[in-house]
Amino acid sequence: MTVASSPAAGCRDLPVLRERGQREVFCGLTGIIWLHRKMQDAFFLVVGSRTCAHLLQSAAGVMIFAEPRFGTAILEEKDLAGLADAQVELDREVARLLARRPDIRQLFLVGSCPSEVIKLDLAKAAERLSAAHAPHVRVLNYSGSGIETTFTQGEDACLAAMVPVLPVTQARELLLVGALPDVVEDQALALLAALGIGPVRVLPARRSDDIPAVGPNTVFALTQPFLGDTHAALTRRGARAIPAPFPFGEEGTTLWLQAIATEFGVDPALFDHVTAAPRARARKAVAAHAGTLRGHSLFFFPDSQLEIPLARFLARECGMHPLEVGTPYLHRDILGPELDLLPAVPVLSEGQDVDRQLDRARTARPDLTVCGLGLANPLESEGLTTKWAIELVFTPVHFYEQAGDLAALFSRPLRRRALLARGLEAAE
Ligand code: SF4
Repeated sequence: MTVASSPAAGCRDLPVLRERGQREVFCGLTGIIWLHRKMQDAFFLVVGSRTCAHLLQSAAGVMIFAEPRFGTAILEEKDLAGLADAQVELDREVARLLARRPDIRQLFLVGSCPSEVIKLDLAKAAERLSAAHAPHVRVLNYSGSGIETTFTQGEDACLAAMVPVLPVTQARELLLVGALPDVVEDQALALLAALGIGPVRVLPARRSDDIPAVGPNTVFALTQPFLGDTHAALTRRGARAIPAPFPFGEEGTTLWLQAIATEFGVDPALFDHVTAAPRARARKAVAAHAGTLRGHSLFFFPDSQLEIPLARFLARECGMHPLEVGTPYLHRDILGPELDLLPAVPVLSEGQDVDRQLDRARTARPDLTVCGLGLANPLESEGLTTKWAIELVFTPVHFYEQAGDLAALFSRPLRRRALLARGLEAAE
């Protein structure tokens, strides 16, 4: 196979700056926005406060005008004070919801900060409600609480909750793990089919009738780097992970496919034949933006857990210079192949102490800063150019056909900044 991917120096052995201070991130409820679009017969019932409901509604934007597949069971003061039996009220709300929405086949009870603080046992509730509403509806639970979590952990917690109840199989199957937009998932499935790899199953499935089975002959490939708990849960079920870089950019996509192709013994000539045209398209699309990105410095605040794969893409395919790559968690098992490829960076950090990190960013004065919404505006007002990390999970960015769009997400703020500077010069 003809993939040239020699590591420049690699970051696997680089010392990691570990910080455990104040963090600036969204909570795991955010994942509901993309998960409810993916799982078409699922409903996500957050057991939380009005704050949780507001977060969901503002993150979902126009989606609130359609009949959504998510909602919030609001804990009132009497629930929080222990004056009402929240379990009884939850049973009543779920019965009402399921009577009104017979299309719901999977119901997720999603814990929040308030439900955790009052120690509402949602696992017990899910068990009881599953028994009450089986076989039409399966009820599971996970936590999206913002206490000690970051926003992509919501998806991880949701998928990890599904793993123990997946049926058993002895079949040798490939399982793709991660919620991708349907159009992107279809591209991946088409590439794998052209390579003769199959059967391929997907977690999460679009509909509950298609949920995958898992067993000792299942091999799985993550499509997102933030699925550490799901990885562990699948491993406990006997499945084996295929380690690989993540399918971002031409190089990442090729290496990800190549790792799977090697596992399934695909002929190298067939691999080259299937990937040649989309690789060329991806290279051309990235090149259209690399001119804007090349030579510019880059600083990642920890947010989406996509930071290390994206730094690798931006450094190796777009010629950028990462000054600090911060990530909320560094799963070495999952990110090892990425760390091998990422050119040595001045600072690789895990966790956050936001004030100290802001000081480092102000000293470094990067050309582009990737950070959460809460930090972006203040940094823009200080003259730094920013990219919102959350856009990276709301925009289709995986695999060959999206490689150009991924590069564009980073080139756009630099272009905008240059245009503004030119406009100001002209006005003076
Ligand atoms: S789960 Fe916690 S952090 Fe998230 S919206 Fe609710 S209260 Fe806020």
